[in-house]
Amino acid sequence: MTDLTRLQSIFKEFRETTVLVEKGVAPKCAMPVNPPNFVPAKTVKEINKKAKSLGLGRIVNKNITDPKAFLRRANEILEEAARVQRKYPMVLKHAKTDKWSLKSIELWKESGLDMEGWAGSVGDYTPSDKLIRLASNRSAYEGPILGEMHVDTTATGVFRHEYGHYLQDRIDKTKAYKEFTELHQKHSSAWWKKNVSNYGGQDLDEAFAESFCAYTNPLYRKIRQPRLHPQIENIMEEITGGL
Ligand SMILES: [Zn+2]
Repeated sequence: MTDLTRLQSIFKEFRETTVLVEKGVAPKCAMPVNPPNFVPAKTVKEINKKAKSLGLGRIVNKNITDPKAFLRRANEILEEAARVQRKYPMVLKHAKTDKWSLKSIELWKESGLDMEGWAGSVGDYTPSDKLIRLASNRSAYEGPILGEMHVDTTATGVFRHEYGHYLQDRIDKTKAYKEFTELHQKHSSAWWKKNVSNYGGQDLDEAFAESFCAYTNPLYRKIRQPRLHPQIENIMEEITGGL
């Protein structure tokens, strides 16, 4: 993307937001726009129907005792998955096929997964089980944070990180992903730490998941939010089919 088209897209978004604020439709702060057609599920059965239609398998209540809290947290994840799939055509393409889908997402009540050997972890993706585990006691959108520990520690942010790992398995033969692996080799761990996050500086997988998580943050490209290094952004654009 050239600088000119980038500026045009920022201006277009700014103008659209201004119109919505003037009409009183949007709040003045840069909050994400909810998917217009997302209707929260009211029962566990409805949750799983939606999850299946989005290629997420089932959403399993691991240990949340309050059923309403479970529904609220599960709906947050479903809404986020729906938003990301709608906004990024390549994500939608790889989200689900006849032979491929996530099997389940486990929601834990804690703000950190508390199993043996998992101390401090907020999420996990197990490729052999196509399972995402999420510590779900984190809410509210935040913009991407670059150059620190993680790019986004909200439950929806951790979901996008783990979903990035899931997608990695799907796209590992594509040209765009090959470009990402080349970019990863080209730069040092310190470079990835500075431009993405400490965690992203760990290895190729975490660099990808953290970059994907930052790029698909609902506030990414909003005014005054940090932007990924153009070399990373361009590849993320290609991988996700996003603007
Ligand atoms: Zn990870």
